[in-house]
Amino acid sequence: MSNTAMVEKYRSNFLKEVAENVEEGEWVRMCMQCGVCSGSCPMGPHWEHPPQELFMMIRANKREEVLSSSSMWMCTSCYNCIARCPRELPITHIMHGLAHYAKRLGLAPKENPTNKFSQRFWDNLTKTGRVNELKLGLSLYFMNGFVEGIKTALKMKDVGMGMLKTGRMNPLEILGGHGVKDKSGFQAMLKKAQELEAARVDK
Ligand code: SF4
Ligand code: SF4
Repeated sequence: MSNTAMVEKYRSNFLKEVAENVEEGEWVRMCMQCGVCSGSCPMGPHWEHPPQELFMMIRANKREEVLSSSSMWMCTSCYNCIARCPRELPITHIMHGLAHYAKRLGLAPKENPTNKFSQRFWDNLTKTGRVNELKLGLSLYFMNGFVEGIKTALKMKDVGMGMLKTGRMNPLEILGGHGVKDKSGFQAMLKKAQELEAARVDK
């Protein structure tokens, strides 16, 4: 379902929309705004909106601000917040769920580095069924443009040489590398999973 259709369907009830569409989103209504999660989050002070604030914004119907926020993309899954939440909210999963939902609706911030990384990782993996680390590394170096890519490659050259010497990197991987045996079966499985997901979302 598109973003416009979702806005129409939930008509300013973002809490309900989150409960019905975001992984573990039904837990948000249990938050008592104590702030323990934000206080425990090692990343929170560097974010625009730490978890408690995002949950408050969901209840306040700040749909656009929440879904376009870069904060949930920065969650490192350290689980500090989950271990300390007095209401036992699965905060980490909600954070990833919100990022996934924003991505699905096309609202995720495009310049967010985690978003860029996850897209590159997905594209790399789904080509052959196995991650081609050399190609993934290079695509990450160059994701902010050619000049930045060259600068990063030069900065990392000692690490790269070390990996080559110890056999941890095979330069021939650039030609294609390994993949799963049944690539067409793998592609068919992905296609089916995407169809099932689209049918679930359209319900
Ligand atoms: S610790 Fe739990 S209850 Fe407290 S603000 Fe965070 S999510 Fe809400
Ligand atoms: S799991 Fe994510 S939101 Fe929770 S404390 Fe760690 S970084 Fe913060």
